[in-house]
Amino acid sequence: MQRLPAAGDEASIRANTVADERESVIGLTRDELADRLRALDVPAKRVPMRVKQLWHWIYHRGATEFDAMTTIGGALRAALEEHHTLARPGLAAEQRSADGTRKWLLRFADGREVETVYIPEEDRGALCLSSQVGCTLSCTFCHTGTQRLVRNLTAGEIVAQVLVARDSYGEWPSPRGPRMLSNIVMMGMGEPLFNFDNVASALRTVMDPEGIALSRRRITLSTAGVVPMIERCGAELGVGLAVSLHAVRDGLRDELVPINRKYPIAALLDACRRYPGASNARRITFEYVMLRGVNDTESDARELVRLIAGIPAKLNLIPFNPWPGAPYECSSADAIERFAAIVNRAGYAAPVRTPRGRDILAACGQLKSASAPRPRRRSVAAQQAGAPAG
Ligand code: SAH
Repeated sequence: MQRLPAAGDEASIRANTVADERESVIGLTRDELADRLRALDVPAKRVPMRVKQLWHWIYHRGATEFDAMTTIGGALRAALEEHHTLARPGLAAEQRSADGTRKWLLRFADGREVETVYIPEEDRGALCLSSQVGCTLSCTFCHTGTQRLVRNLTAGEIVAQVLVARDSYGEWPSPRGPRMLSNIVMMGMGEPLFNFDNVASALRTVMDPEGIALSRRRITLSTAGVVPMIERCGAELGVGLAVSLHAVRDGLRDELVPINRKYPIAALLDACRRYPGASNARRITFEYVMLRGVNDTESDARELVRLIAGIPAKLNLIPFNPWPGAPYECSSADAIERFAAIVNRAGYAAPVRTPRGRDILAACGQLKSASAPRPRRRSVAAQQAGAPAG
């Protein structure tokens, strides 16, 4: 693990955490941007062109100051500068894993923090975005789940995570060909379907062909199972769906993923069966965390296959990533292999997700805001073991 020196970080944190009355334009929709321009006395007939130009500078070119926008006249640039900002959130820390994974701890103007993770592959990579500060779900195996929900992120704060990552890789202007940041997964902190409006607005900005221009086919949203929102996600955004299943019987899932008490497995799978756009070319991903002696038997695997019959699906087996005080252990390699073999034989792809960035606590379920308020609870097992709370 390499903890980078705070080169410029302190200044940028200070710059972004002192109260700035100016409104950020990052994450505003095109309509909102048009409103702001009218408020700055841009003549109505020029507004659409100005929106287009601003959009191009912000999301295609990655401008960090209005002064760089050379196609926009000096007077308007000055007016924008007076009332608005393009500042990124403060970078409270950037860490790099031995395997190339990068993690940013971002600090917003109110001092709240989230983590964003970039997971590189050979010639591309996925950026894992957070949707909330903290989380309400309390999944017992998830580090973020030990944190209370503090608040939803705004659309601008979600979009800003993408800008920070692309700043870090210098991936401006948006490349037409292969990209480092080729995919986005809404799999960071929080439950995206509990903050749907802001997530949707942010993803529309990210997908906009005149900006970051990332296709919906390269975006996957993961939910623990907010059943009433699943259909809207498919109909309105058309992004790929991942579902954190983790257990095949309601009793156990009630415990591991407590939202199951409200929306049990049958209701969740029904929603998956109806997911707009799901097809053999566009399968639903079922995530399944491998917990030793908890959910990893061959009988679990067989029941899983039975449950998802008829759904265009693939599995994503996630070896449990430990965190301080976690009440679980990862399944043995042998158990994971046997589980995967059963699912494979039934005709489903079941890759085992190689843990990435574990050394910097950047792997699935390990994210947490450093400045989080006190933990909501300690698991019984962790208390019994006398382990410190997550
Ligand atoms: N709230 C959404 C988004 C989080 S996605 C959801 O639940 O789907 C993060 C994924 O990592 C989820 O599948 C989550 O269940 C899984 N996860 C959480 N903690 C983990 C851990 N310690 N080890 C492995 N996977 C974990």
